[in-house]
Amino acid sequence: MCVDPDWTPFEHINEKGEHEGISADLIQLVAQRVGLKITLYPVKTWDESLAASKAGRCQIMSFLNKTPERETWLSFTEPIFFDPNIIITREEHAYIGDIRGLRDETVALPRGTMVEERIRNDYPNLKVIPTGSEPESVALVSERKADMTIRSLIVAAYAIKKEGLFNLKISGQIPELTNKLRIGVLKEETLLRDILDKGVKTLSAQERETISNKHVSINVQQGVDYSLVWKILAGAVIVLLTVTYWNRKLSVLNKELERLSVTDKLTGLYNRLKIDAVLEHEITRSQRFGQPFSLILLDIDHFKSVNDTYGHQAGDLVLIAVASILAGNTRKTDIVGRWGGEEFIVICPQTDEIGVLNLAEGLREKFQAYDFPVAKHKTASFGVTTYRQGDQPKEIVQRVDEALYLAKNNGRNRVEARQREV
Ligand code: GH3
Ligand code: MG
Ligand code: MG
Repeated sequence: MCVDPDWTPFEHINEKGEHEGISADLIQLVAQRVGLKITLYPVKTWDESLAASKAGRCQIMSFLNKTPERETWLSFTEPIFFDPNIIITREEHAYIGDIRGLRDETVALPRGTMVEERIRNDYPNLKVIPTGSEPESVALVSERKADMTIRSLIVAAYAIKKEGLFNLKISGQIPELTNKLRIGVLKEETLLRDILDKGVKTLSAQERETISNKHVSINVQQGVDYSLVWKILAGAVIVLLTVTYWNRKLSVLNKELERLSVTDKLTGLYNRLKIDAVLEHEITRSQRFGQPFSLILLDIDHFKSVNDTYGHQAGDLVLIAVASILAGNTRKTDIVGRWGGEEFIVICPQTDEIGVLNLAEGLREKFQAYDFPVAKHKTASFGVTTYRQGDQPKEIVQRVDEALYLAKNNGRNRVEARQREV
């Protein structure tokens, strides 16, 4: 059997001198089905194979199109493989619906091929530039020395995947030029032709497809091992998802931690730590924008007696209720916190001396009217003060504390203000 030694992925002769490729697999299957033993006639070039066949040194040619020229010395089996020919142009070329419509375009084609023979005969509107090989034809198109070339879809797909076709694209196909690849047999060997034909007829479309996929994809893997790429990608995605998951979880935990760190456990109000920070922030804001802000500090009157009379738990219930009185009777922008023990603080942004007195007085009334659980009626004393330019947190806190002390001293259940003299 004579073959084309260099027509990958259809067929080639490998380093060990073996016939490999789509044609090799198909013919092996055919030979197996009809019980033939076929040996390879070793050559270096396609021309050598043609010459050997014409000289009768090989009875079979493995895989070729039927042409009138070839029919002078060969007879053919039914096609063992179908492969459409496609038109390859540079990227900028328009789609080619019908190759007959082209005028004065050049087509690079390897010398002595069926396609060259057919194009010269059937499409005189094209100017053929003969070349030495298919890759040379493709190169001429890429280098703008020819407008197009015509190549088998299988070979083109293989080449695109293996080398990349750079600035080229598939612009159309030539249905009349579908490669119907057959086994050629010396004309006088009619019995051999008939036997091979029987084998060819046993080939199913599925078998043909499996074999062609095998050879086109084997070579893809030489370029890039896609299975490895997918494994790496999958790994990266898992790592990313895990990191994202943990970041989310950590961010939720951190938010909770932050919330806990600024919250008083019993009342749910801001704790001393947070109030200190808010105070600092409000002072900075007032300094910058010149807006007033005020403070209310309140202390439950005779709270110790609640614990003493009804127990510590009843005392706790009162503290919780106080938190709701304060939160329910101040503005959204006011910041309410537990200063410590039975003392609470309200920071009132954008509130002046009169405003804060009114607010504190209102709170005092709500407080005294409130029906606490167990302890029933309680009162509280209030101290108020307002920020003055240049106040430090310590100063303003000290002033409001003095005001509260004044309220206690002046009889409890009252509001006292203490402002810095201007
Ligand atoms: P005054 O009118 O002078 O403020 O008298 P008071 O009894 O309210 O003041 P004092 O400072 O003598 O007592 C405060 C009490 O508050 C003592 C303390 O046990 C109680 N206390 C502080 N924190 C808590 C708490 O979290 N729960 C309870 N149940 N009691 C608390
Ligand atoms: Mg008290
Ligand atoms: Mg106290």
